[in-house]
Amino acid sequence: MTTDHGYPAIRMYIAGEWCQGGTGNTAPVIDPATEEVIGEVPLATGDDLDRALDAAARGARIWRETSIARRTAVLHAAADLIGERAAEIGRIMTLEQGKPLAESTGEARRTADTLRWHTDDARRAYGRIIPSAPGTVLTVRREPIGPVAAFTPWNFPVGGPNRKISSALAAGCSLVIKASEETPATAAALVACYADAGLPAGVLNLVFGEPAQVSAHLIASPVTRLIAFTGSVPVGKLLAAEAGKVMKPSLMELGGHAPVIVCEDADPGRDARRAAQAKFFNAGQVCTSPSRFLVHESLVEEFTAEFVKAAEALTVGDGLAQGTTMGPLANERRIEAVERLTADAVGRGATVRTGGERLDRPGYFYAPTVLTGVPADAALLSEEPFGPLAPILPFTDLDEALGIANSLPYGLAAYGFTRSSATAEKLSDGLEAGILSLNHCGGSVHEAPSGGVKDSGYGREGGPEALDAYLITKRVSHLLAD
Ligand code: NAD
Repeated sequence: MTTDHGYPAIRMYIAGEWCQGGTGNTAPVIDPATEEVIGEVPLATGDDLDRALDAAARGARIWRETSIARRTAVLHAAADLIGERAAEIGRIMTLEQGKPLAESTGEARRTADTLRWHTDDARRAYGRIIPSAPGTVLTVRREPIGPVAAFTPWNFPVGGPNRKISSALAAGCSLVIKASEETPATAAALVACYADAGLPAGVLNLVFGEPAQVSAHLIASPVTRLIAFTGSVPVGKLLAAEAGKVMKPSLMELGGHAPVIVCEDADPGRDARRAAQAKFFNAGQVCTSPSRFLVHESLVEEFTAEFVKAAEALTVGDGLAQGTTMGPLANERRIEAVERLTADAVGRGATVRTGGERLDRPGYFYAPTVLTGVPADAALLSEEPFGPLAPILPFTDLDEALGIANSLPYGLAAYGFTRSSATAEKLSDGLEAGILSLNHCGGSVHEAPSGGVKDSGYGREGGPEALDAYLITKRVSHLLAD
């Protein structure tokens, strides 16, 4: 069933059934390109959450006892369905999140590949046999940790939830996932692929609700064995503290404020184009989005001119419209945040080289913005913009640039541009970040781990490390019977 906007009716998925919340309470879902209400998302009650937890407890046993061959077959079938439905998932995602259709469908296609990768990787989650005394077998086994409570945001409506779902299910765990209430239909479309592929009831449960209430309930439950969160640093700290109180491990994928260091020997034109493309991808609403551009003083004018050109070449518009290369921001909060950060920087003496304002039309559209002369005390240089703002700052000495890059409490992504392998090594050693890209602004790939240091969180998603949080290590020493 769809609404007039071609937007599907949304249900939660609990114990293998699509359902409304117990009280029938809902919250509106808004199309960020029009500011119109396009649907209603059901909100879970405590009873709904308990049903989901009971189902996840049963689901954990069922899934763990399912052969790896069967698990693999179901997950590969789910990946095939995600691939087949990528165009429709992408359309729903653009309606509720705003990103251009090509980005949305691309995200859905990558999601299918990510699921295949984790599924196959889990087939090699080997333990080991350790040489020991005669008559003793000393082994190390890796077992699913048990039911996971997962929380995902709105910026990658299918890729975000799927990173948690695919790693957890591949490892043999069950989940209760609370996806974003702002992009619920995409999450439901993803979960439908798993359900339609034959995942047993209870293994995967999808809920929505009042975030703080849902997280408190799921974290406190004795059923939950792991908390997996992607979102902002303040919320991550809150949830990690709640998990700590009940001695539960957590996986925290939080925000950052990614520095880009453009060294004296870089190519200012080409590198500005590469950096601008990454900056304005998903309208800057990416946890690894480059957000502080430190450019050697000898290149800064040429780099800035090229960056401005790239920003002005973007077609900002409805993500469903042909030719759109940057959509609206996802919600009113982001518009308010980028307006505040721009006004603060300009009030302290920064110059807007392009953009700097909301577009005069309905929808949460903000112009791709480049600022120079941003003073060190501007909020934009310490607060993650999570929007299309690019402050460009000159530096003289590489050590000075490294000092500025590392001066914040965050450490998620960092970028460097140089032709010198010695400088590249200096950047690799010196930048405090979990993800470093040199001479390009690479996005996440499922083959390699992503994650942060410092306030940007802990644990890794992607790569073989992705399974670590979802598996426990058990030592078994067995003295053979006489
Ligand atoms: P927010 O801090 O209000 O929420 C971030 C996410 O956490 C949302 O999905 C929200 O539903 C969820 N959330 C909030 N309170 C929660 C709680 N008590 N329990 C469980 N979940 C909770 O911020 P926002 O306005 O939605 O997003 C803006 C900020 O969030 C950005 O500045 C950015 O730093 C961060 N963010 C980071 C990522 C990421 O990929 N790391 C993604 C989205 C947002």
